[in-house]
Amino acid sequence: MRTLIRPGLAGLLGLAVAACGAHQARLVPPPPISPATAIVGATLWDGTGRAPVPNAVTVIRADRILCAGAVGECPVPQGAKVIAAKGQYLIPGLIDSHVHLLFVQNGSATEDLGLDLRDLLAQGITTLRDMGNNPAVLLSRVAGFDAAPRVYAMQLVAGRRFFYPAMRLVRTERGVEYRQAPALTMQWLGWSPILFDRSDNPDAVVATARQAGAMGLKLYAQLDSVSIRRLTTAAHRAGMPVWGHAWPQPANVAEQTRAGMDGVVHAAGMAGELFTPEDRDTLVNDGALQAATARVATAASARDPRILATLDSMAAHNVMFEPTLDATRHSVASYDARIHHVPSIQEDYVRAAAAFGMEVTREAVTRGVRISAGTDHVAYGPVGDRASLLDELRLYVDSIGLTPTAALLAATRDAARAIGGDAGGQIGTIEAGRYADLVLLGANPLADIRNLEEVQLVMRGGRVWRPGQLRSGIAMIEAR
Ligand SMILES: [Zn+2]
Repeated sequence: MRTLIRPGLAGLLGLAVAACGAHQARLVPPPPISPATAIVGATLWDGTGRAPVPNAVTVIRADRILCAGAVGECPVPQGAKVIAAKGQYLIPGLIDSHVHLLFVQNGSATEDLGLDLRDLLAQGITTLRDMGNNPAVLLSRVAGFDAAPRVYAMQLVAGRRFFYPAMRLVRTERGVEYRQAPALTMQWLGWSPILFDRSDNPDAVVATARQAGAMGLKLYAQLDSVSIRRLTTAAHRAGMPVWGHAWPQPANVAEQTRAGMDGVVHAAGMAGELFTPEDRDTLVNDGALQAATARVATAASARDPRILATLDSMAAHNVMFEPTLDATRHSVASYDARIHHVPSIQEDYVRAAAAFGMEVTREAVTRGVRISAGTDHVAYGPVGDRASLLDELRLYVDSIGLTPTAALLAATRDAARAIGGDAGGQIGTIEAGRYADLVLLGANPLADIRNLEEVQLVMRGGRVWRPGQLRSGIAMIEAR
């Protein structure tokens, strides 16, 4: 019986027959799927904890790292494109685990987003975790940009009081009146928080988040310890990490830690440990919370036994900490720049939070709490006013006392752990099989963290970019 064979397939079969023919079989290796690239001669700091490797070879194929190590460990494949990097330093692509890219209000970040993403990539940042957004809208917008870090989105979740505060004016002790539900302000930004009541089905929240493209939950505000535990359990069951504001009112960090959350953000929120459960339950709006924090948060109260006990518990349960020090520094600087003014509650809060947060972070590091270098960077406004990863790391070294190596781990290996899930396992270190997300520096960042400014080349998933090219916005072709 004749079998019909399509011409293309017939050709292939013909070749196969010829290859198996009478003469000696000649094995012709198939052409490589994509040519390899080898970065040769740099000092390799791979972020795994191993010592820097001088004169290293790092081989990349397609979007992955094939191998990385000393010359003998990692041979350069024949035909590989070689990037000569003698005298330079190769580190994993940096991760900022706390940004806000999407601000629809006034059209701000809708227009600036592409520029911001290119600028972040030029800084050597190859991965971002967005901590407040509308995941579906953000991810579809980011997908339209070619030159951009990887972006992972978290789903915001908040309690009933965030959506429906009591139907009355809320007056703070200084006479400020609040009329609007915080959730509405957030929705104006284009963000999409999900409401969760302690009796709601947490699996439904997780399913909605997943459908929107989120890779984890961010527990934002007005959640009690029961809600936090139920949401965390459901998210973990689905393989999703759970982060949130430290002290999301009324639950405090001790309760978040007991609930099994993966990490908390903003050092100032550790002030929640200094209030009774009854007090925490009454601080239902930002003004009251800020006034209360400004009253109790000082460098000395950061060493209160209740805070130290919570930090010890965080270390024991592997709950990570994102202090966001540079964002607070920017806020303080903006108040410092005003000459004649009456301090507002917000200013008192910011100044107290700065001193308190710095000391809390020092204690956290001393007690072995793992730090992730999220910044609270936003994608709009003057570039100099936005928190930056380099400045966050500089503060870790200059003000907290971390070594440059420890600071770098907070923006590579440990930030990848903060991102968690499948994504976190594929970034953050230079190891075979991980994404080829790399930064080549002209000076040693382990000697001086400021040398992170000396970016020569950024690779994201095997694609190479030069900072000048990204910042000029003109030559959006692959660098050679
Ligand atoms: Zn934030």
